[in-house]
Amino acid sequence: MTTAVQAPSWLPDVRITLAQLASGILEYAEGFTGGTPFRLPYPANLQLALDRLTLLAWHQGVPPPGSVVELLQLAHTPFAEWSLVLTDADVDPEESLLAYGRPTVTCEELGKLRGDVEAELRENALMHGVLDKSQAHDAPDSYVAFRKLLISKPAITAFDLDANLADPHLALLAEEVRQAYADAPPEAIADGIVRTCQGCHGLRLPLDDDRTWACVDDSCPDPSTAGPNHRAADGVQWLRRELRTFIAGPGRAELRIAEAVSELGVMARLWPDFDAYDLSAFDQKPWVADIKAWRSPTRLARRLRQGLFAVPDDADRAFIVIAREQVRAHPRYLDRLQRACPAVGPGQRIVAVSEDQFINAVSRRAEAGR
Ligand SMILES: [Zn+2]
Repeated sequence: MTTAVQAPSWLPDVRITLAQLASGILEYAEGFTGGTPFRLPYPANLQLALDRLTLLAWHQGVPPPGSVVELLQLAHTPFAEWSLVLTDADVDPEESLLAYGRPTVTCEELGKLRGDVEAELRENALMHGVLDKSQAHDAPDSYVAFRKLLISKPAITAFDLDANLADPHLALLAEEVRQAYADAPPEAIADGIVRTCQGCHGLRLPLDDDRTWACVDDSCPDPSTAGPNHRAADGVQWLRRELRTFIAGPGRAELRIAEAVSELGVMARLWPDFDAYDLSAFDQKPWVADIKAWRSPTRLARRLRQGLFAVPDDADRAFIVIAREQVRAHPRYLDRLQRACPAVGPGQRIVAVSEDQFINAVSRRAEAGR
């Protein structure tokens, strides 16, 4: 669709402004842990986002946020309730950037799209370090063990962490494993107890009333079931936030899909060739797949348009597989994704499918081969 009136050149891009706001909020959230008050000045990205939102508000004739404090209040508000119109911003009306004072997955995804977010650099630096070291030692099993640990144990006691590092595959990456975790934040501890979630095995945190404990992971498959409690004295560690979002969240779907493929009697390999893609199924003429658990199909489409994984020559078919939770939560997820990124549409070399479609297709091929 074309707009009749050209936007003035000084008018900031709504999408970039929101991404900058998301980055600023992520930096801001990194800047305080637990009860420690945040120290001024605010992150530069927050201040810049405020300036840009002010220009947008003036242009639209609505009142701008008066301060960074008001901006952070606005960040708790669903986008539908903003007085600013956010056309082309890749956000859904019910989403917000902050919930209970913490960045949402929406905030992570928007911040990630900016491409220069510090958290992404750190995630990449750590994950690249892990890849480099595993490759240098020709130790693909170490790489797989590292990812499996992060996915299966986003919260872990110091004792359990040490026990895992005794595994020779993981011992190679001991330093990186320790960097992936941080001490459980003070707000996660009450009466000397740290509470966990059965759905994602991460921590539960107190909501605003300090009495309700909840899993704050948007992609948790079972956020209302409590997992085991740990004594705070046992030194509970929690996977760093960006690794929870971009490794553990999608990783749950990766492990689950690999398991479902194996149960069909089909050989499945996770992160083959040092993570060239997420999964390969079948020994001969393999099917290869990247598994995605992005909340928003339009944001995922934007990411996919920046580049798809390289399909190996011997691959029979290639897929982007969308995790079940996301397909269920978002009506017409695949339609919207393929419309925004035709490169993964029907008939392309890489086709986007749902987790259930993928498992069914694997099942049919396995049946046909018997
Ligand atoms: Zn959970």
